[in-house]
Amino acid sequence: MTQVATTSQTLKPSAEGEGWKARPIKLKIFGNLIAEVVHKGICMYCGACIASCPIDILFHSENEEPVMRGTCAACQVCYYSCPRIELPVSEIERRVFGRERTTEETILGIHIGSYSVRAKDPDILKRAQDGGASSAVMLYALENKIIDYALVSGYTSREPWKPGPKIARTKQELVEHAGSMYTPGGQVGGTAEIAVPNRSVVDFQEERLAFVGLPCELQGFWRMNTHWIAAPKLGRNLVFTIGLFCSKVFDYQKMMVDYVQGTRGIDLRTVTKVNIKKNRLLVYTGDRLAIDEPVEAVANAAREECNICVDYSAELADISVGAIGSASGWSTVLARTPRGEDILNGAVEAGYVEMKKLDPLGKGIKFLETLCERKRLRDPSAYIRHATAFPRPEPKLVPLEVTTK
Ligand SMILES: Cc1cc2nc3c(=O)[nH]c(=O)nc-3n(C[C@H](O)[C@H](O)[C@H](O)COP(=O)(O)OP(=O)(O)OC[C@H]3O[C@@H](n4cnc5c(N)ncnc54)[C@H](O)[C@@H]3O)c2cc1C
Ligand code: SF4
Ligand code: SF4
Ligand code: SF4
Repeated sequence: MTQVATTSQTLKPSAEGEGWKARPIKLKIFGNLIAEVVHKGICMYCGACIASCPIDILFHSENEEPVMRGTCAACQVCYYSCPRIELPVSEIERRVFGRERTTEETILGIHIGSYSVRAKDPDILKRAQDGGASSAVMLYALENKIIDYALVSGYTSREPWKPGPKIARTKQELVEHAGSMYTPGGQVGGTAEIAVPNRSVVDFQEERLAFVGLPCELQGFWRMNTHWIAAPKLGRNLVFTIGLFCSKVFDYQKMMVDYVQGTRGIDLRTVTKVNIKKNRLLVYTGDRLAIDEPVEAVANAAREECNICVDYSAELADISVGAIGSASGWSTVLARTPRGEDILNGAVEAGYVEMKKLDPLGKGIKFLETLCERKRLRDPSAYIRHATAFPRPEPKLVPLEVTTK
């Protein structure tokens, strides 16, 4: 008869026999990330590694790539937070949307509504890139206490038109950081301010946020928040995300400093808007259109990691926003989650935006689908997987055999 073991009884070794053993895998740390992602030209400077380092030794840099300042603790968190190491789309979709996309949703991703949206606030409209939907929806969420702050992108301290993560708590801050900058800012790195109290300007235990970013930044955000070895706590207080449509980004030094300032002689401090529309680069100083020429003028500044990107419409956001698909001065908005749809409807009812339904079979959405499809035809095998390559090990519970004499 089997009995409960007492200290005097001998416990036989388990069936495995040798107790706990480290898994025979090679440690993957920041150096591996540099070798396998940055040096291979596929790092899109999303900032997920920067945000996730638990001992806070990874930082943004002038070169638009993550840098280490300190001694690595070899915890592997940054490596497994990187969406370019691996992006298990189906797993992330199950987490964000509760299901995977259907065949009909292959091109645009999961979405439940498509709209043309325009902000009503004249200050937002004046500064915004398109219809100001992004800033107006965040303003609605702030003023109605749905969030405590929005993580947006604004100028870094010394360099005009160089983006970096910024926290907006007021209408003034949202308006100040409205508009698009066509260079990467490591947006996910901003969530580190939430996790690291001594760098923090927010109460990371309590405060609720909305996150705005490029499609690859959302990939970084969700990779970091869903992989079991990464940093899931950083998404804990997230209320919703806004993703921007994106065809590519440019190198800040080559585009803004060397070309706009150097070749064209425009002081970046006087630039009020940069836009890329219909393959033309448009740069405004005040109301003057200072540059209007084919975007090929800055072709050498295009970042190479974008060549393998397959996400145009920010498929992992609650609300995706872009220009393509709507009339000039309006934003095209895809509501992807019920939460995103509720927030949009709330913004309409409270008078922050006006909104028109877009015909899913109409010209605007068809054009958007064409651009999404062009990107989807690229080969993403360098990073996208549909199942994780490093699955959480199933715990093997082997019952101890207890014998009595
Ligand atoms: C690099 C880039 C490429 C884009 N490519 C396309 C495209 O090909 N087709 C298309 O239809 N739309 C594209 N967009 C989106 C478009 O430019 C507008 O951002 C979008 O239509 C939202 O307009 P809005 O008036 O609603 O936003 P706004 O109310 O002006 O708000 C924009 C928000 O985006 C944030 N932001 C600005 N620059 C960045 C950045 N670099 N990284 C992260 N956040 C940022 C701002 O802080 C602000 O919160 C691109 C945007 C960027 C930044
Ligand atoms: S996490 Fe983002 S910033 Fe870091 S290496 Fe990967 S792609 Fe680059
Ligand atoms: S996250 Fe871990 S492995 Fe990466 S740099 Fe920080 S301590 Fe090193
Ligand atoms: S094209 Fe893709 S990788 Fe490049 S900035 Fe846009 S979302 Fe990121």
